[in-house]
Amino acid sequence: MATTTTTPTYDVIVVGGSFAGLSAAMQLARARRRVCVVDAGQPRNRFAAASHGFFGQDGEPPLAMIAQARRKLAAYSTVTFVQGTVVSATAAVHSGQDFAVALQGGEQLAARKLVLAFGVQDGLPEIAGLRERWGATVLHCPYCHGYEFAGQRLGVLYHSPQSGMHAQLIADWGPTTLFLNGETTLDRAEHERLLALGIAVETARIAALEGPGQALTGVRLQAAEGGDARVVPLAALYVASATRPASPLAEQLGCAFDEGPMGPYVRTDANKMTTVPGVYAAGDLTLMRHNATLASAEGVLAGTGAHQALVFGV
Ligand SMILES: Cc1cc2nc3c(=O)[nH]c(=O)nc-3n(C[C@H](O)[C@H](O)[C@H](O)COP(=O)(O)OP(=O)(O)OC[C@H]3O[C@@H](n4cnc5c(N)ncnc54)[C@H](O)[C@@H]3O)c2cc1C
Repeated sequence: MATTTTTPTYDVIVVGGSFAGLSAAMQLARARRRVCVVDAGQPRNRFAAASHGFFGQDGEPPLAMIAQARRKLAAYSTVTFVQGTVVSATAAVHSGQDFAVALQGGEQLAARKLVLAFGVQDGLPEIAGLRERWGATVLHCPYCHGYEFAGQRLGVLYHSPQSGMHAQLIADWGPTTLFLNGETTLDRAEHERLLALGIAVETARIAALEGPGQALTGVRLQAAEGGDARVVPLAALYVASATRPASPLAEQLGCAFDEGPMGPYVRTDANKMTTVPGVYAAGDLTLMRHNATLASAEGVLAGTGAHQALVFGV
């Protein structure tokens, strides 16, 4: 549905103010464009006490990194921040404005271009004790959170036929067990290949993760009939979460998606424009590999892409 609005208009509205969105907004601010960043304040890595691998910021708390980026951006006079959630985005009808967005509280904003940088949400398996350890000892990525557990007992939760490869990768950080969680069996050749590489395979269903607070000391397996429940000692469990866009906006706007191993992601060109002219997208939302540095780099491309579209027209 098309919408009209008389509220302040911007060159670009950026939806999502984290690694990707703030990086896009910085390029636009430095190009002296009026940019509005609308952010709901729920970055994906908010569950982790430290973010690793980011240039010059290794080990810093992710929320502190984002706050610092916001402070730097706030120094530019053409930037506006709005705390809130965008609930809809449409092509505007009146001249000079390409898009209108509506916020949860009813406020409407308009802009000539949009940058979608609202990230993804993680769908976690329903296993007792798993969700509360997410980001501490239940982890998505060894490059982000592998070094800290190096040499300790590690686990991989079966997710897909690629999980054998995942276990093989994790084993580069420490002795690894692949938990099939009663959901599947490996073909014999793969099972034997993993055992030959020193990777243990547990077939039983998981009853719960154990340990004080967010620490993990072991995975309790359901007892086989007539047997005792076993606990496999473990310091960290790697889980390939199923991801989905954190907001339906891209779908509403008609952006095309591709299917990645973890979930759908928005299709973009080399300048980070989606399949809808004037709508740019960046960050986890548009990537198969999720990482703060990549999200930030993508934000730079989306910001410069949107700026050049304002100059040359798209
Ligand atoms: C537990 C965990 C730990 C991680 N650790 C690391 C690490 O150590 N190193 C690393 O490089 N990567 C790490 N990552 C990956 C990293 O978090 C992501 O790659 C990065 O946050 C992606 O940035 P983004 O800007 O695309 O999205 P996000 O950081 O998720 O930000 C999206 C923003 O958009 C907002 N938003 C969503 N919908 C709307 C809406 N409708 N309106 C307005 N705002 C909206 C959200 O509230 C959020 O603030 C980790 C991920 C997880 C899950």
